[in-house]
Amino acid sequence: MQIIEIYKSIQGESSFAGLPCVFVRLAGCNLRCSWCDSNYTFGRGVSIPALAILSEIRSLSPNGGLVEITGGEPMLQERELVPFMRDLLSLGYRTLLETSGERSLERVPHEVHKIVDVKCPGSGQQKHFHAENLSTLTERDELKFVLASREDYEYARDFIRSRGLEAGPAGLLMSPAFRKDAAGDRSSDQCLLDPRNLADWMLEDGLRVRLGMQIHKFIWEPQLRGV
Ligand code: SF4
Repeated sequence: MQIIEIYKSIQGESSFAGLPCVFVRLAGCNLRCSWCDSNYTFGRGVSIPALAILSEIRSLSPNGGLVEITGGEPMLQERELVPFMRDLLSLGYRTLLETSGERSLERVPHEVHKIVDVKCPGSGQQKHFHAENLSTLTERDELKFVLASREDYEYARDFIRSRGLEAGPAGLLMSPAFRKDAAGDRSSDQCLLDPRNLADWMLEDGLRVRLGMQIHKFIWEPQLRGV
């Protein structure tokens, strides 16, 4: 597979936030979100055989644990990635797949926890959601909305309510977008949308979603890679 980086850190997002996790970041993305903080993934990366990646994961986390496959968009390498995820599962790793939601997720093994973005208008990529992916979601999975404005919040709220998604099966996450040029201070001032506003809106609307804060950007400087 074409790989950008493999490292161990603290999971910063989703309901697994705060747990130690090995990240496998795959190269390439076919979207261009306006606030993307991972444009270093857009190139080719380094070709690494699946066995060598598994060996690196074992050395970083020998006793199992959490592994997140992320990118870029990992499903662009679906042919190699699907058997790789099966290998990870058979070795006992709890496996997360972070995806833009643009590719079909039908072939992702059922035991994988899918964290699926629904792109909102502020990303400039909201037309790219693969709607059939909603029918692949289970109670293991999470739908994530990254928000840059009130308009994005309303889009996400209406997307959720019009499809009855608060009833499950997947978990729902809303997260303020970070400024892609964020530098220096670790502060919520670096968010494009004030999390306090997001909290107020969620409570006013009685929306049953989880507010997520990308905690790695508060633990380390926001521009730092490999954390
Ligand atoms: S899908 Fe992810 S990696 Fe691709 S442009 Fe959007 S934020 Fe960046």
